[in-house]
Amino acid sequence: MTASVPAAKVIDGKAFAAGLRARIADAVPAFSAATGRAPGLAVVLVGDDPASAVYVGSKGKATVAAGMESFEHRLPATATQDEVEALLAKLNADEAVDGILLQLPLPGHLDEQAAVATIDPDKDVDGLTPVSAGRLALGIAGMVPCTPYGCLLLLQDRLGDLSGKDAIVVGRSILVGKPMGQLLLGANCTVTMAHSRTKDLPGLVRRADIVVAAVGRAEMVKGDWIKPGAIVIDVGINRLPPAEGEAKGRLVGDVAYAEAADVADAITPVPGGVGPMTIACLLRNTLVAAHRRAGLADPEGF
Ligand code: NDP
Repeated sequence: MTASVPAAKVIDGKAFAAGLRARIADAVPAFSAATGRAPGLAVVLVGDDPASAVYVGSKGKATVAAGMESFEHRLPATATQDEVEALLAKLNADEAVDGILLQLPLPGHLDEQAAVATIDPDKDVDGLTPVSAGRLALGIAGMVPCTPYGCLLLLQDRLGDLSGKDAIVVGRSILVGKPMGQLLLGANCTVTMAHSRTKDLPGLVRRADIVVAAVGRAEMVKGDWIKPGAIVIDVGINRLPPAEGEAKGRLVGDVAYAEAADVADAITPVPGGVGPMTIACLLRNTLVAAHRRAGLADPEGF
């Protein structure tokens, strides 16, 4: 799929994430030597949604591969709000746990926001509690949602200083778009936040040096929306209907990849762009949370 795009234009998130994970694994022994224990990440899965079970499994494996402790907790789909919150409270109080991730979505009868809000903000490695969102908005050190943080790292790796860049974020979800906008603002970009009510989206995208697409609509952002030389970060993961003879449809992003790559300076592919950064940043957040909880300085270079 990426064959027609010159390698120099492809932002290889898979390779970047592998490097980040290796650096995290290298930093773990110093933490363990200082504290007598490895950083610990607890993942809570409620119900038996197969996709969520796969995500939880890969997070657990990546945690162990980085030399950290992984604690997996499963509750039945029938769990009550009180049971979920009681488990989260127990993990808040557990000294061996530095990070808590509540796998979303929760079964429909549960109140997600209320459950997330019970997580100790200092252990909120998904960056989704109201306190984490507030800290991000205020520019106070805290936990930042993993996917947008991964996008920021890819952008900084490609561009260095982002100061003064014109950036557009298409999508304003709590998980991706809003924190992405805050991070870009924090990096001194001039940020436009676009969403489903935005007028003249193509015109706004054409002005941007940096385009982050987090919409969930297959190939919506077209090549002729992209300013020549822009950097395009495609967060979207969409499965197309299967073509004839295919068992499963292809995965594509929110950007029409080949035509955007023709115009852009660089672009993330789907898959292999932003996706792999999410778990790597979860491990990064766990490492950072562990240092802060132990009263140590943040690890260098993360
Ligand atoms: P949401 O559905 O929560 O948000 C989508 C956003 O896109 C909304 O703000 C919506 O606007 C906006 N939008 C919808 N249609 C349009 C349109 N026609 N023009 C402009 N804006 C539009 O999605 P998420 O943020 O959770 O996810 C976005 C994509 O990123 C999905 O494909 C998801 O699978 C992927 N994703 C990938 C991750 C990764 O690890 N790579 C992690 C998380 C998500 P409005 O608010 O007005 O409704």
